[in-house]
Amino acid sequence: MCIDQEDKRQKACGMLSMGAFLKYSDSLLVLWDPSYTRRLWCVFELAGFMRSRPAGKPKLLVRPLILGPCSVLLTLTMVVVVTAIGWVPEQGDLAGKLALWGSQVLVLLIGLYAMISVARGYFRAVDQMRSELFNFSLEEVQCYCCQRNHVDPSGNRIQICDRQVLLQCIGIWFGTLEAFEQSVQAEVLPCLLKELSSHFFTYRHCVTATIPLLWSYLDLAAAILHYLDQYPGRTWRSAMDDGILRGASWWLGAVPTICAIAMRLSCALRKRRERAWCDCLVTFGILLCTVASFVVFVQLEQLKYPLGALLQEWLGPVRHLNECVFLLMVLLSAGVAFGCVGIHPRSFREVRLPPPATMEKPVETANEPSIRFERNQLSL
Ligand SMILES: [Zn+2]
Repeated sequence: MCIDQEDKRQKACGMLSMGAFLKYSDSLLVLWDPSYTRRLWCVFELAGFMRSRPAGKPKLLVRPLILGPCSVLLTLTMVVVVTAIGWVPEQGDLAGKLALWGSQVLVLLIGLYAMISVARGYFRAVDQMRSELFNFSLEEVQCYCCQRNHVDPSGNRIQICDRQVLLQCIGIWFGTLEAFEQSVQAEVLPCLLKELSSHFFTYRHCVTATIPLLWSYLDLAAAILHYLDQYPGRTWRSAMDDGILRGASWWLGAVPTICAIAMRLSCALRKRRERAWCDCLVTFGILLCTVASFVVFVQLEQLKYPLGALLQEWLGPVRHLNECVFLLMVLLSAGVAFGCVGIHPRSFREVRLPPPATMEKPVETANEPSIRFERNQLSL
């Protein structure tokens, strides 16, 4: 929702219609950054939206702004890594191959290090938000006009103080200022915490961001099919096994699980260390664990042969059995990683609800309010 900040009449009309907009909105999309809950307008809008539909669950979508750069960074890292695979010649000197593999690993490590560092910062910001909203006070929340001492960038005096207007609205919508503060602590905080913890880098985000991995395996399948006559041992089934099924296993199961492990560790070890080098060491430690989990999956892939042979004795000849066994194993691991050990609100410190307000305090109004609304104009 955008309210005209230049035209006074448009601004007043926007404020008057805010209740109606919130009440008749199907959902509210919050593009969150750490400053969001420090701004009076944003907190008021969010609390008003939740207040306007107490009977049903509010359809609130909170998406952290940092998610965009994080996804792009992961996708670019994957693009560089999988493109470099194609540059490695099947025959050629070992030094050339090692140089390419080394550069691949280096790009992957730099990309993952940056992602883990950003993720740790994000989880710290969520922690900070939890702490700020748990002790939420209207006096401490920021308002643009008051911050600028009611003088706009051109040097003109700002006639309408947003804080005065919003305090009136809060009085009409919530009864008392304490009721509003309590609503922020008891309703807005748990909802924001749930959205920000469980919707950051979900399975869908991982799968979308790492799609270059699938392209690489599809490229491999196409190459196998194209050069079938040059490699007598290979059939179209090799393209299915090595390209489609193996690609699906890594793309849909193994890589999302590795991402989930990296995110879980980043959340658990989010606390900033006093010394910069200690902090870098923690990020590097998480990176090493991420690489170790990749190695575990490489080893796990080798298990598909004995397990496939065992199943074949039991089921008889089944096509693509080995690859299906690996696909099933990694999908199970992804299910466990995202369903059981992913990021949840309980990953942060427990949020205790404040005691209910007992004191009715009259709504504070300015001595000379620039604008005054009637109850029926703003009612939710
Ligand atoms: Zn002001």
